Amino acid sequence: MTVTSVKTLAERLAQKKVSSRELTEDYLARIARTNGTINAFITVDRDGALAAADAADRRIAAGEAGPLTGVPIAHKDLFCTEGVLTTCGSKMLGNFVSPYDAHVVSRLKEAGTVCLGKTNMDEFAMGSTSENPTFGAVRNPWNVDRVAGGSSGGAAAAVAAGMVPAGTGTDTGGSIRQPAAFTGITGIKPTYGVVSRYGMVAYASSLDQGGPMAHTAEDCALLLGAMAGFDPRDSTSLDRPLEDYTRDLARPLDGLKIGLPREYFGDGLADDVRTSVEAALAELRKLGATTVEVSLPNTRLAIPAYYVIAPAEASSNLSRFDGVRYGHRASDYKDLAEMYEKSRAEGFSAEVKRRILIGTYVLSHGYYDAYYIKAQQLRRLIAEDFQRALGQCDVIAGPVAPTTAWEIGKMADDPVQMYLSDVFTLGVNLAGLPGMSVPVGFGAANMPVGMQLIGNYFAEARLLNVAHRFQQATDWHLRAPSL
Ligand code: GLN
Repeated sequence: MTVTSVKTLAERLAQKKVSSRELTEDYLARIARTNGTINAFITVDRDGALAAADAADRRIAAGEAGPLTGVPIAHKDLFCTEGVLTTCGSKMLGNFVSPYDAHVVSRLKEAGTVCLGKTNMDEFAMGSTSENPTFGAVRNPWNVDRVAGGSSGGAAAAVAAGMVPAGTGTDTGGSIRQPAAFTGITGIKPTYGVVSRYGMVAYASSLDQGGPMAHTAEDCALLLGAMAGFDPRDSTSLDRPLEDYTRDLARPLDGLKIGLPREYFGDGLADDVRTSVEAALAELRKLGATTVEVSLPNTRLAIPAYYVIAPAEASSNLSRFDGVRYGHRASDYKDLAEMYEKSRAEGFSAEVKRRILIGTYVLSHGYYDAYYIKAQQLRRLIAEDFQRALGQCDVIAGPVAPTTAWEIGKMADDPVQMYLSDVFTLGVNLAGLPGMSVPVGFGAANMPVGMQLIGNYFAEARLLNVAHRFQQATDWHLRAPSL
């Protein structure tokens, strides 16, 4: 398999070398061949995709195409899609057909993209492995005995396996960046508020942010341009002018100052990840950048802060799943209270229940000040750390995760071990900053390694620029697993 970018597909479509229907049929055939192994898709929408492809072909023929018209994509299964099952990876929403489209879904439809289906994920986006208890584990295309990362593991595996050229993901504490790193693709989590959360099933609303996952930074820039923008239906959506995220891609890196947080290169970092990230930094220096050590002293505290705030918000957001209006309802109960209890007991799996319990506990009277308020104070300190560091450099670079992808099942009984692996990604969400993952090599057992780039608020175009220049000089993003 060779890697084909969205950019290349868009050019072929524009030059009428291929039709959207042909492309769509090719990708659907590849999904049919590989999904049994990779388990990246929960739903494949063949009829919807072919209808959208035909509409895109008519648009292209009429000369009304945009840069993404006719390009196949897939949505993480927490974006509501009108008329198409939206499970959020949960038995609770196992029968939920959304009556409306998420903002991101309608924006990408307007751009003429063709949605092939909905990708697998951790239930309610809670996790780092996409070992879904209802729909089965997503398998890493580089080694099918390993996890693809999470929670957007289905999107990452689908792109890496060539089942779709790009997809949407969401990132609450690393769920775009970490699976991108684990599967050797590129992904960006924008500044909080840049992409509307309308129609995204909520996990932790003050942290959740949608973004693109693709092979290249250039593709991410194209897709982000279509996804971003003010939406009055999301009260945290930012009312700013639309941006062309491709505008700075070619900018030379001369004079770029990259900050390397001391805490991201400490003892906890596996040697193979360190080696690849350091080689990538050497490459960036060759391209004209300089590096300077910075410090994010509260890095370790991101874990307890996040694992109080995210479950607190989740416990509130998930209270809507009560079996009354939509979603799973227990089949036998004696009264209303038992209907609620049984519906929730049956609909949620262990990890989701764990988080609801933690969240309810930290928000309860008497514990609120000790846990929730404390976590909010840590959140402020972490955001201040980033501002101090970003005062000394243009962008921050480091690893995405301490290790490469591990074996399926390895952390299944050890949630705390899994939470610890989020140490380098959580702070970015707590601070609301943009962050991305760029493939920078392969570690032990030939598993992909990702480098994280973090910028100040609204520095998406700069991050994409750094990643693009790096990708012009290297070919890690063009490597494909043999499947
Ligand atoms: N691993 C983190 C969690 O379990 C982040 C998940 C995410 O970003 N959705 O909450």
